Amino acid sequence: VQKIAVEIGWENNKQVLAVKINDPDTNLADLLDAWQPFCDNKTINKLYAAERHKECRGCEINCCNTAYLIPDIIAFKKICQNFDLDYHEGTRRFFAEDKIDLGVMRLKGNPCCFLKDGLCQIYTNRSLLCRFYLCTDIAADTEQLLYSLAWTGSAATQIFASEQKLLPGEPRKGSGSFDRLFLDLQQQYQRDTRVQLFMEARDYNEIPLKPFLGDQIIAHSVM
Ligand code: SF4
Ligand code: SF4
Repeated sequence: VQKIAVEIGWENNKQVLAVKINDPDTNLADLLDAWQPFCDNKTINKLYAAERHKECRGCEINCCNTAYLIPDIIAFKKICQNFDLDYHEGTRRFFAEDKIDLGVMRLKGNPCCFLKDGLCQIYTNRSLLCRFYLCTDIAADTEQLLYSLAWTGSAATQIFASEQKLLPGEPRKGSGSFDRLFLDLQQQYQRDTRVQLFMEARDYNEIPLKPFLGDQIIAHSVM
């Protein structure tokens, strides 16, 4: 039996994707492996896909055109390493200057700076927010799990950026509602002790899932 499975289930009369934890002694890499096939899945309902049932590859709406992304720390480091850039160079090249001024590590977007001819140029190193996002219904507890992981990872990037002096100083509130929302969320997660797991890990397989799972999730499934 796999440690983690992703199943198509039902919640509030809607078809949903739900993570099922069979063995709580598992890690984030296992979850990513279980989730990835649904990007290519043509049977689930995808709100923005052509005819609502297509793989993400080749999607014309493509969420990458509008994504507001703060990569998790593992992805941030991998992106810099893969382009052979130090963290300062990587920040200058791939992150939005106006957001850096506000203290937010947002990738250059609209469309995402890594989107070329409709394809992601860093697909295997894309961030958790990219990996987990699907325009389909997701079970509430699963959504909570995915976003707590992605946001904890992004908060770790923010802390790392401060430590490495990639940001100008104290973050100040931007004028846009997204900036405020993201700064508030970042600050909320920065106080979360699980951020240390991301700070210390070299890759996703070094991040245990157990601290992110509730009792109910461990006992049965995330539905
Ligand atoms: S998740 Fe993004 S790429 Fe995939 S179908 Fe939806 S909008 Fe398109
Ligand atoms: S990093 Fe890749 S998957 Fe993520 S928004 Fe950019 S192009 Fe899309």
